[in-house]
Amino acid sequence: MASDQSSTIKAIVKAFDSDRSRLMDIAQKVQDELGYLSEETMETIAEALGIPLVEVRDMASFYAFFNLEEKRENVVRLCNAVVEKMKDMDSVGRAFEKAAGCAFGETSPDGSIRLEYTPCIGMSDQAPSALINDIPVTSICPEDVPRIIKDLKAGKKYSRANVSSAGAEVDKNLIKAGSVIFSPMEKGSAIRKALNMSPEDVINVINQSRLRGRGGAGFPTGMKWNFCRKTKGDAHYVICNADEGEPGTFKDRVILTECPDLLFEGMTIAGYAIGAQEGFIYLRGEYLYLFETLQKELERRRHLGLLGKNIAGRSGFDFDIRIQVGAGAYVCGEESSLIESLEGKRGAPRDRPPYPVTDGYMHQPSSVNNVETFCAAARVMEKGAGWFSKIGTKDSTGTKLLSISGDCAHPGVYEIEYGECIADLLEMAGAKDVQAVQVGGPSGTCVAPKDFGRTICFEDLPTGGSFMIFGKDRDLLDIVHQFAEFFVEESCGWCVPCRVGTTLLKQKLEKIMAGNGSSLDLKELEDLGNTVKLMSRCGLGQTAANPILTTLQNFPKLYSRLVKGDDFVPPFDYEKALAPGIEMAGRQPVVEEEV
Ligand code: SF4
Repeated sequence: MASDQSSTIKAIVKAFDSDRSRLMDIAQKVQDELGYLSEETMETIAEALGIPLVEVRDMASFYAFFNLEEKRENVVRLCNAVVEKMKDMDSVGRAFEKAAGCAFGETSPDGSIRLEYTPCIGMSDQAPSALINDIPVTSICPEDVPRIIKDLKAGKKYSRANVSSAGAEVDKNLIKAGSVIFSPMEKGSAIRKALNMSPEDVINVINQSRLRGRGGAGFPTGMKWNFCRKTKGDAHYVICNADEGEPGTFKDRVILTECPDLLFEGMTIAGYAIGAQEGFIYLRGEYLYLFETLQKELERRRHLGLLGKNIAGRSGFDFDIRIQVGAGAYVCGEESSLIESLEGKRGAPRDRPPYPVTDGYMHQPSSVNNVETFCAAARVMEKGAGWFSKIGTKDSTGTKLLSISGDCAHPGVYEIEYGECIADLLEMAGAKDVQAVQVGGPSGTCVAPKDFGRTICFEDLPTGGSFMIFGKDRDLLDIVHQFAEFFVEESCGWCVPCRVGTTLLKQKLEKIMAGNGSSLDLKELEDLGNTVKLMSRCGLGQTAANPILTTLQNFPKLYSRLVKGDDFVPPFDYEKALAPGIEMAGRQPVVEEEV
């Protein structure tokens, strides 16, 4: 390795205090400087940190946004999520291939442009969209593409240096603001109220509000804070999960753009309640363009005495927040994977129990909460538990943000009171002739029109916020297949039921879709789905079969019209079956002659 490159790497490692837990940031910075992470580069990082090379390789090879193969000047990552495909992503993809002169998964002949597909980047309300050198570009038409490629080659508009000013390209799309998240609040007013109480009383107020986690599982927030506070440790940590990777979700994008202060306020209150001095926001890599703006907002709060030492004049209450940027791994939305990633490792889920509240970041008690949950907690402190608990339903107090996308006139973010029914939401979004609604993303529930009276709340249809609408002309089984493919791609591969099971589910589905399935295959598909659900190690595998299981239950005709009777034997095409093997081996099979 050239000595100047080696010096660059060593300087970067030093800038991060040679802290092994900052390995993600170090690798990202080195990649920004040198274009990619070669074997030699990783060796130098390992040496400078005093860790084995395998630890660097293990981490870097896990994340989609680290590039280990070749120097890439410009990378176009076209989002291929379900809603993007509904909005003619394929035509945009073909236009990119034509203009760049290469297929997706390849680099252009002149080496200047790499084309890749990527799962949901949080822009389903303005599809088709792409990340171009980490800059979000939305509502792309095929006619826009030649100009984009020209600008890319000119090296100005899509320079990585412009990433922090890229927010202008993204529409807010806040269609309906409610009283909890999107109403104005004076900076520091909720913190001051909290500081007038003891930490235990703050937790009592959160308990009285009956606030539940907004990620979908709905664990009571006050109870979580209480467990964390009561667990002894060298330090306690507040962690904000801003890794909203569920396809079709983009509500955190709008919170982080419109009211980051509310989030920081909520995290600081959590810090006071659980006895933490440090908080982290794990920001998904796809939202890198928000990083600088959020940093400036944090800095402003430090100047106002709302972060740092002796917050709001309260002697001895010190708390600060650091933003950790992710690198493109859906599984990091799972809290234990997120913590591994935050420690600078590959984002592999941990065995649970122990749960993060007792054994989290650096094996210390940590409270991991969702962006929306922290915002709601701040509002509870500002306006009181009584005010908050009157909104919504008995077991689901407050409001919920929904990211509505797909076949509707007004895609965007809606803040609704818990308890609203799907039919009302469809009317609000201007959706007509709806075949199905996918509530909670691929890992959620596919709801049929007969159930549009069902309501969004923990008692009925809990959701992290994704709400995708499919019109009557959509091929619903093809959408289920896309979800099945998504889980195959995103499985971290650690446990067999998920690693193998997701592939078997996809293959079985393909067999049925090709008209080669019998009613026995349907039974096997359901059994397999239930096995993957029951036996997988973490939430990803436990929900990966949901698109199939919920459509089998709610749309049985989708499947039954394709399958034959129990005694059906599908035709076997010998040459077609051998073709992949012949291609791989590069030769025809040798046929032994009979003696
Ligand atoms: Fe990894 Fe899937 Fe197992 Fe979770 S369930 S640990 S994502 S293989």
